[in-house]
Amino acid sequence: MKKLIAILGSTGSIGTQALQVIEEHPDKYEAYVLTANNRVDELIAQARKFKPEAVVIANKSKYPQLKEALADLPIKVYAGEEALCQIVQEKAIDIVLTAMVGYAGLRPTMNAIRARKAIALANKETLVVAGELINALARVNRTPILPVDSEHSAVFQCLAGEAGNAIEKVILTASGGPFRTFSHEQLKTVTKEQALRHPNWDMGAKITIDSASMMNKGFEVIEAKWLFGVRPDQIEVVVHPQSVIHSMVQFADGAVKAQLGMPDMRLPIQYAFSYPNRLQASFPRLDFTRCTELTFEQPDTTRFRNLALAYEALHRAGNMPCIVNAANEVCVAAFLHDRISFLGMSDVIEKTMERVSFISKPAYEDYVATDAEARRVAEEIIRG
Ligand code: NDP
Ligand code: MG
Repeated sequence: MKKLIAILGSTGSIGTQALQVIEEHPDKYEAYVLTANNRVDELIAQARKFKPEAVVIANKSKYPQLKEALADLPIKVYAGEEALCQIVQEKAIDIVLTAMVGYAGLRPTMNAIRARKAIALANKETLVVAGELINALARVNRTPILPVDSEHSAVFQCLAGEAGNAIEKVILTASGGPFRTFSHEQLKTVTKEQALRHPNWDMGAKITIDSASMMNKGFEVIEAKWLFGVRPDQIEVVVHPQSVIHSMVQFADGAVKAQLGMPDMRLPIQYAFSYPNRLQASFPRLDFTRCTELTFEQPDTTRFRNLALAYEALHRAGNMPCIVNAANEVCVAAFLHDRISFLGMSDVIEKTMERVSFISKPAYEDYVATDAEARRVAEEIIRG
C-alpha cells in the first residue's frame, strides 16, 4: 500500500527534496497534497508533474492564477490559511510533512495530530513555541512525531533498538555556520549576503540566518527536549565544522552512538517516511578517503548570544520560547530587509523577552496572544 503524503511547504528547500524522495519511490509514496505560500509558478509546475489530489496556496491573491493554470486537471484547488489547516485532516492522508517555515506551522500541525496523521516534522518552530502542548496532543491521539531535522533524525536513528535504555546525554552537532571564526568586532558589520552563504547546507533563507546566528542550534536544543524527553542539562551542543556527524547519543554505560553521512536532507526526510525501515537511496555516499578530519569545538555563547538566549528560554519555560521565536522571526525578516544589524538581532530578542508578559502554564490561546504581543514589541524596539 502506498503512503499518501501531504507536504506543507512543497516549494521550499525541504519540500522540493521531499518530492525527490517521493519520485525515487513511486511504489511507496504519493504526493497527495502540495501547498505553498507565494511561489505559485513553482506550485503549478509541481502540481502538473505530481498530479496531487489537492493543492493549497496560503496567499489568497494567488488563487485565480493557480486555479486557471490547473483547470484542465482534476486537481482540487484551495487558498488561504484556513484551507491549509483543514486539508491536513483529509481522510486518505497518511503522513503530513510540516515543511513550512515559522510559527505559521503550529495550527496546521495541531490539526494534523488531531486527525491522527503521522507527522514528519521539519517545522521546528512548532515544537519551540508549543512543545508541551504538541506532545500532549500527540499522546492523546497516539500520533507519532518523526523528526526530519538532521540532528534529531540522527538522534532518532541512534535510539533505534535502544528501547528501555536510558539516555545520559544527547549531543547535537553544529556546523558553526559562516561566522564560526569571526571575532565580535567582525560580526558587527556582517551582511545578509554573507549570512546567507552557509558552508555546508543549502536551506531556506530564514533557517540559514538562524544557522549563522546559532539561534537554529538553540531552537534545536528546545526541539530535542520535547522530542526525546530529556532535561536541558542532558542536551549538549558541540561545534563540528565538517557536518559529517549529524548528532550523537550517550547512554548510561558511557557508550556514544553517532549517525554519520553526507549533509543531504533527503536521508532524514526519507527515514521519517520509511521508519522503522530503511530504503534504497541514490544520493552520494560519505567517502572516508576525502573526509580525513573530524574536529570538535565548544560553542561560544558570548559571540553567539542567541544560543544563550534560547537556553535561557528553555530554562524559564512557559511562554518564553514562544516569545523568543516570535522576536526572532521579526528580527530575521528585519535583517533580511537591512533594517537591523546581525548583532542587533540578539539585543531585540533579549529586550522582547524582558517586556512581554510571562505565562508559566500557557494554553493554546496564550501562545497565540504571546506570539502577537512579542511581534508587536520586537517591531517597536526595531523602530526605536
Ligand atoms: P523554505 O523557505 O525553503 O520553504 C518554506 C516553505 O513554506 C515554502 O514552500 C513556502 O512557500 C512555505 N511557507 C512559508 N511561509 C508560509 C506560510 N505563512 N503559510 C504557508 N506556507 C508558508 O524553508 P525550508 O524548507 O528551508 O524550511 C522549512 C522548515 O524546515 C523550517 O521550519 C526549517 O526550520 C525546517 N528545516 C529546514 C532544513 C533545511 O535543510 N532547509 C533543515 C532542518 C529543518 P513559498 O515557496 O510559496 O514561499
Ligand atoms: Mg538541523
